Amino acid sequence: MDNLVALAKRRGFIFQSSEIYGGFNGFFDYGPLGAELKKNIRDCWWSDMVRRRDDVVGIETSIIMHPKVWEASGHVAGFTDPLVDCKVSKQRYRADQLFFAAVIVDGKTAGYVSVLESEKTAAELQAAAENFKRKKAIQGTLAPIVAKDMTEAQPDEIALIPSPATGEPGSLTPPRSFNMMFQTNVGAMTDGSSIAYLRPETAQGMFVDFKNVVDTGRVKLPFGIAQIGKSFRNEITPRNFIFRSREFEQMEMEYFIHEDADWAKCHEEWIAWCEGWLKSIGLPDSHLSRYTHPKEKLAFYSRGTVDIMFKYPFGVQELWGIAARGSYDLTQHANASGKPQEIFDEASKKKFVPHVIEPAVGVDRIFLAVLCAGYAEEDVKDEKGNSEKRTVLRLSPRIAPVKVAVLPLLKNKEQLVGRAQALYKKLQRRYAVFYDEAGAIGRRYRRQDEVGTPWCVTIDFDTIEKPGDTFTLRERDSMSQRRITEAELFALLEEHVY
Ligand code: ATP
Repeated sequence: MDNLVALAKRRGFIFQSSEIYGGFNGFFDYGPLGAELKKNIRDCWWSDMVRRRDDVVGIETSIIMHPKVWEASGHVAGFTDPLVDCKVSKQRYRADQLFFAAVIVDGKTAGYVSVLESEKTAAELQAAAENFKRKKAIQGTLAPIVAKDMTEAQPDEIALIPSPATGEPGSLTPPRSFNMMFQTNVGAMTDGSSIAYLRPETAQGMFVDFKNVVDTGRVKLPFGIAQIGKSFRNEITPRNFIFRSREFEQMEMEYFIHEDADWAKCHEEWIAWCEGWLKSIGLPDSHLSRYTHPKEKLAFYSRGTVDIMFKYPFGVQELWGIAARGSYDLTQHANASGKPQEIFDEASKKKFVPHVIEPAVGVDRIFLAVLCAGYAEEDVKDEKGNSEKRTVLRLSPRIAPVKVAVLPLLKNKEQLVGRAQALYKKLQRRYAVFYDEAGAIGRRYRRQDEVGTPWCVTIDFDTIEKPGDTFTLRERDSMSQRRITEAELFALLEEHVY
């Protein structure tokens, strides 16, 4: 992960926000290559989800909406995370990410240990318990630890659990609800009546505009409304680089179905679609899995939620949530606004509120997943047969920020440079391409490997001296080289960049 973060900075994928002022926790900037990669992820999703489907339309709604939207949706009352404060260090923790265990020796509780959630939470708690026993010179047999998070702590336990910041008990508060919506004021007044929120999800835009789309869009059930846009959450502990940040981008789609439709079948179809899409942009099957939310943990209106999980270096984590939400959202807005959110069914001559399946994914989490899956350090042989290290980003051509690098073999040979420039300009009309004439050719290949460019074309002496106007095509993954014509190069791109 450290190497990946370093590469992301070094090659201009991701910077800390406001870095010259020391950075701003939970906010990130995307550099030149990062902005291209992110745009490609968005564009692929939009093409596949909206343009290439007959049953989904796209919209773009405002980030700040009427505050009543968030009352009706339940966010004002319930969009909270459990928060625990350390009164001594002033650190704040998400209660469900702060784990503790009783240290039980010969059946008696000798004290408590705590750690922050990680891949190795249980092992770290066990080690902390053994350390506790050794330090306090307690004799006897340590019982296996039972890990719990702070939301499960009994009131009399809280004062005994040490703060991870100080290592001492007595400073942690009981968990309380913390609303994650960012507040702002709209207009010149800053009293209670002007309070508004930065949206914490894009989904409500689709629900609130449901009638507008139905009345203007010539859509018929089942159909979807999709949107890509920024969302904001005042996360208590932003972490794992861009995985959990306070400003991020979502790609969400609300798929409306008949109230009597087979929602479980539709849900499963969307889960499979999302998995297929992730593979189409290069995520390997081996890193993907499913997590079905247990029935007892679902919101009362929810029929079922399945998360597509990705194996990040810091653990298996949620990438894409696919929820069956019944008719909850439209019904809430109908009740709160007094405007019915119904559809007329020709067959039964009845009006009803459609049900919805919602696939919701974060662009930044996909971005991180493709970097993690694609990053490799390899030992390879250079032209002289010597071993060297190569860093390579195996990005799918669909999303790679640069599709082709055009390289004249020598920069002081007018004919080579002229042919390379002509090819470069022609490719540039359709694709993101890069022109590089500086340094040894092997070094130039390595620079492109590191940023995930799938192909390099070298304009060499065979190009200008031999018939056929062919170039050397060098592939990133296999590092193999072959000769190719301009027409073949365009055909190759046409096939892989879609
Ligand atoms: P988590 O449990 O990880 O906080 P969530 O279940 O609250 O996520 P949803 O509300 O379902 O997430 O949001 C849909 C998608 O938006 C998530 O699957 C994730 O890809 C993305 N997402 C949510 N919160 C963040 C965040 N703070 N930073 C980056 N992406 C996020």
